[in-house]
Amino acid sequence: MTTLSPIKTFLNYINGSWQAGSSDETLASINPANREVVGYVQSSTREDLNEAVEAAKQAQKEWRKLSGTERGNLLFKAADILEKNLDEVAESMTREMGKTLTEAKGETARGVAILRYYAGEGMRKMGDLIPASDGTALQFSKRVPLGVVGAITPWNFPVAIPIWKVAPALIYGNAVVLKPATEAAVTAAKVIECFNQAGFPKGVINLITGKGSVIGQGLAEHQDVAVITFTGSNSVGKQIGQTAAARGAKYQLEMGGKNPIIIANDADLDQAVAAVLSGGLKSTGQKCTCSSRVIVQSGVYEEFKEKLIAAVKTIKVGNGLDADTWMGPCASEDQYNTVKYYIQKGIEEGSQILIGGDSPESEELKQGFYVNPTVFDNVTTNMIIAQEEIFGPVLALMKVESIEEAIEVANDVEFGLSASIFTKDISKMLTFIDDIDAGLVRVNYETAGVELQAPFGGMKASSSHSREQGEAAKEFFTTTKTVFIKG
Ligand code: NAP
Ligand code: MG
Repeated sequence: MTTLSPIKTFLNYINGSWQAGSSDETLASINPANREVVGYVQSSTREDLNEAVEAAKQAQKEWRKLSGTERGNLLFKAADILEKNLDEVAESMTREMGKTLTEAKGETARGVAILRYYAGEGMRKMGDLIPASDGTALQFSKRVPLGVVGAITPWNFPVAIPIWKVAPALIYGNAVVLKPATEAAVTAAKVIECFNQAGFPKGVINLITGKGSVIGQGLAEHQDVAVITFTGSNSVGKQIGQTAAARGAKYQLEMGGKNPIIIANDADLDQAVAAVLSGGLKSTGQKCTCSSRVIVQSGVYEEFKEKLIAAVKTIKVGNGLDADTWMGPCASEDQYNTVKYYIQKGIEEGSQILIGGDSPESEELKQGFYVNPTVFDNVTTNMIIAQEEIFGPVLALMKVESIEEAIEVANDVEFGLSASIFTKDISKMLTFIDDIDAGLVRVNYETAGVELQAPFGGMKASSSHSREQGEAAKEFFTTTKTVFIKG
C-alpha cells in the first residue's frame, strides 16, 4: 500500500473496521484547483467486495430486528458527529472536487438534516390497517427491509447523495455497501467515519472504494445484493440497470439532465437572471439539475441577454477555498476536457460565444482545471450543445416566439429531470406544469436542487422512474407484506 506522508491513505470500512484492500494498489484523489493529491484510496478487488457484501449480509439479520427507534437513535448520533465535523468534511469536499466552501458547507449541513429526517422515520408508521371481508379477521400491510443495498454514487454531491441513499436504506432495516465515486472517495470516507463513531453494529454499513468497472459493476452483479441504488451518468446507469434486472434485483437509477429554464415575455427579468446564474453556474454547472438551456421568448431576448451577460461578468472564478470565489474549477481533468470539447462543438455548429469559452489567465489558476462561465447565443435545438449533457459552466441561449414553442423545444431532448418557467401568467404556469416532461417542475424558481423531504427523480432517460428522498425512499428501500390473521 502506498503511504505518502503527509498525504493520507484512506482505507475501506468493512465489518466495522478500517482495512486495506487486497490489491496493494491505491487510486489518487486530485484537487482540481491545483492538482495536489488530496488522498489515496484503495483500489479494491472483487474479493474485498465479497467480504463487504458478506459482512453486510450477516449484519442485516440482526439489524432488521432492532426497532426503528433504536436504528433511528444511531442515525441521530451520526448526524451530531457529522455536524461537529462539518468544517473538516466540507473542506475535504472543496479540495477533492472544487465546489466552493460555502456550497460544501451547505451540502454537509444538508447531509446532517437528511440523517435527522430519516432518524425520525424510525418512529413513523410502516404499514396500513386494511379492512378484511371477514369481520373477525385482522388484515394489515407491513413494510419490511429487502436485505443488502449496494449504493453507487457520483462525485458531484460527495456528502448529500451517499447520505440520501445510506440513511433511508439503514432506517428501514437494510445493510449497506457504499461504493463512492473515486473523485470524491476521501470525503465519503470521512462521512463513513461519522457512522463508525456513532457505534453502528459492525457490518451494517460498509465502504469500499475502487474502480467503477470493478466494484460498481461487481455490486450490480453480486447475487447477495438485493438492491442497487445508483446516481451517475446515463451510460453507466443503463449498464447497471441491465445487470441488476437480469438477476432480478431491485434497482433505481438517477442519471443526467439537460434542464431548460423558460423566460416568458412577462417574466421578472432580474429574478430570472439570478435564477439562471445560481441554477446554471453554481457548482461550476455540475449539478444534474443545473439549467443548461435558457429558452427566452423573443420579446425580451435582447434585454435578458444584456442583463445576463452583465451578471456573468461579475462572477469571480477561483479556488473554492478562497472566501471571495463564486465559482470553482471543473471537478477533474476529464470534466475540463469534456467541457472544452462541447465549447468547441458549439463554435463549429455556428453558435456564437457571448462571454467565456476560455480559461482564466492567472498563473495560479493555470495550475487547475478552470473554465470561465460561458454563454452561447442563438443556439438551436438540433445542435449538440442543446442536446447532450455538458456538466460544466456553459449556458445555451435559445430564442422562441411563443410559450408553446418554448415547451416544445424544452421537451425536445432525451432527458427530463428538472425544468423551470419564469412568468407572471397563471395560465402559462398551468400549461407548463401539465406539458413539460420533467420530474422536477419549478415556477419562478431555479431548476437546481430539491427539498430533502420531497420526492426527487426524473422522467424519460433521466431516471429509471423510481424516486428518491422523502417518503419515496420508503417505497424503494422496503417491500410490502400483506398480513391476514383469521380471528
Ligand atoms: P459516472 O461516471 O456514471 O459514475 C458514477 C458512479 O458509477 C461512480 O461511483 C463510478 O465509479 C461508478 N462507475 C463508473 N463506471 C462504472 C461501471 N462500468 N460499472 C459500475 N459503476 C461504474 O458519473 P459521474 O461522472 O461520477 O457523475 C456525473 C453524472 O452523474 C452526470 O451525468 C450527472 O447528471 C449525474 N448525476 C445525476 C444525479 C441525479 O440524481 N439524477 C445527481 C448527480 C449526478 P468511479 O468514480 O470509480 O468511476
Ligand atoms: Mg478530484
